[in-house]
Amino acid sequence: MKKNEIVNLEITDITSDGNGIGKYDGMAVFVPETAVGDLLEVKIVKVLKNYCFGIVHKVITPSADRIESDCPHFPKCGGCSFRHISYESEAKLKEKFVYDAFTRIGKIQTDFMPILSCENPDRYRNKAQYPVGISDNGNICGFYAKRSHRIMSGYDCKLLPEIFSDIAKLIINYTNHNDIPAYDEQTKKGLLRHIFIRQGYHSEELMICFVVTKRSETQFRQLCNDLTEKYSNIKSIVMNINPDNTNVILGKKTVVLYGANCISDIMCGNTVDIAPQAFYQVNTYQAEKLYQQAAEFAQLSGNELLLDLYCGAGTIGLSMADKVNKLIGVEIIPQAVENAQKNAALNKIENAEFICADAGKAAQELAKNNTKPDVIVLDPPRKGCDTNTLDAVVSMNPKKIVMISCNPATAARDCKILTENGYIVEKVRAVDLFPRTTHVECVVLISCM
Ligand code: SAH
Repeated sequence: MKKNEIVNLEITDITSDGNGIGKYDGMAVFVPETAVGDLLEVKIVKVLKNYCFGIVHKVITPSADRIESDCPHFPKCGGCSFRHISYESEAKLKEKFVYDAFTRIGKIQTDFMPILSCENPDRYRNKAQYPVGISDNGNICGFYAKRSHRIMSGYDCKLLPEIFSDIAKLIINYTNHNDIPAYDEQTKKGLLRHIFIRQGYHSEELMICFVVTKRSETQFRQLCNDLTEKYSNIKSIVMNINPDNTNVILGKKTVVLYGANCISDIMCGNTVDIAPQAFYQVNTYQAEKLYQQAAEFAQLSGNELLLDLYCGAGTIGLSMADKVNKLIGVEIIPQAVENAQKNAALNKIENAEFICADAGKAAQELAKNNTKPDVIVLDPPRKGCDTNTLDAVVSMNPKKIVMISCNPATAARDCKILTENGYIVEKVRAVDLFPRTTHVECVVLISCM
């Protein structure tokens, strides 16, 4: 196979990073924005030793899964991977991504429950982080193009509430009329880097955070007045200072410009306060289903000691606190721990304690002190649990472990380690928190043998 060659290809599967896959002459060909069943003419763009990449040259017969994309930014924008297939077929694919990860990486055969799909696959996100940049016509904001740091100018995104684009537009207009320079990644000059917006799904409270390179409250004062006058739901405007040359969006320091340093929302019946630095599931509607599934797996009776590792602002543990004797949460981000403690108090939950520490270190310390949790919830970031954490979890010998993960591959790897240490994976369920993207969450029930 040679670069620029055109070949006929049938797409037989989709990989977990969203590429269609077909075989030509025994060689795997990966083609983005395709669907299972597509018959295509594919132009080869890159040839490697065992596989190659192509792009669609012509659709000969489209797959029955295909739909017309309803977003002008697709597929150039890096936000969505699946606007060209029906949501039903996307959900089926995601169910298979989770199944494949557990059976192939984890070598685990178990009860795979049907995916909890999302009834509202559009405008589900409660958080946006618009990158701000410079164009010939002044400051712009928008979305990163696929696999790049190039900003595509645009406000409306089908994954975000419509009010976010109105707010972002107002802010960019203001900066263009008031000489607030956007940060330029190339020259490292300028002030405004990102516009961060978060809205409580149930409360509808809004937080706006200007991510800037240096403190500059006075330049933003009138803008805050304009925003709060126009949008009565704004409960918090903050300025986050990030002077570093980095891809990480938020810096260490945050100052409040208006209202509080957090907004409130309702999560599984509890009032929760969330600071900008705190992790908060972006799809509240689906996250509540996920936490309910986790609670069903945990089958709590009221007597248990529950350990919630990687607890963020405490949302999962607190949703189960009335069904346990005691809850201990562990989280590494101090602001999130403060939120968790305050959230317990707000909801008059008196049997909860939160520790600000690395999950592995805290778990080892708890194990050393002979703490014996009956149930452990593990909800690690994408890279999964480290071996310290898993070792300590095993040594505490809980009857049940409920693992929640946004990365089925690392979840499967970690579950495999648990199965090698006296545990059995009883149930796995995919939950779609991120429609139109390749991401999928899963929840796993693991019991002591
Ligand atoms: N359970 C929470 C948060 C899950 S996201 C919820 O459902 O909202 C994963 C969390 O792990 C984040 O809050 C992140 O800050 C935290 N985290 C990442 N590395 C950690 C570590 N080494 N130790 C403890 N917490 C960590």
